[in-house]
Amino acid sequence: MRECEHKIEVAQAHGQVVAVQSDDDGSHLRDEAFAQGIADFENERTQPPPEFSHGDMLRWWNEGYDFAAELDEMSCCSGCNDSTGNPCITHS
Ligand SMILES: [Zn+2]
Repeated sequence: MRECEHKIEVAQAHGQVVAVQSDDDGSHLRDEAFAQGIADFENERTQPPPEFSHGDMLRWWNEGYDFAAELDEMSCCSGCNDSTGNPCITHS
């Protein structure tokens, strides 16, 4: 897990940039839920916090969680880290 942490941090930084740039029209809630999903995956929490456990917030939380899970899987995949810089067939 430890060698996977860097790419997750990059994803979180990216999410924060997106959150800063988005207009205040509700999309910040999506970014917040997405970022929370990433953070919860990183902290090995499989359930969303109560405020993210329903409706769109839950959907966005799941998107963030799944995104982090895929990134984590790719960062640990020898096929994705064969020094070509390209994802393997499974993750492309
Ligand atoms: Zn792969």
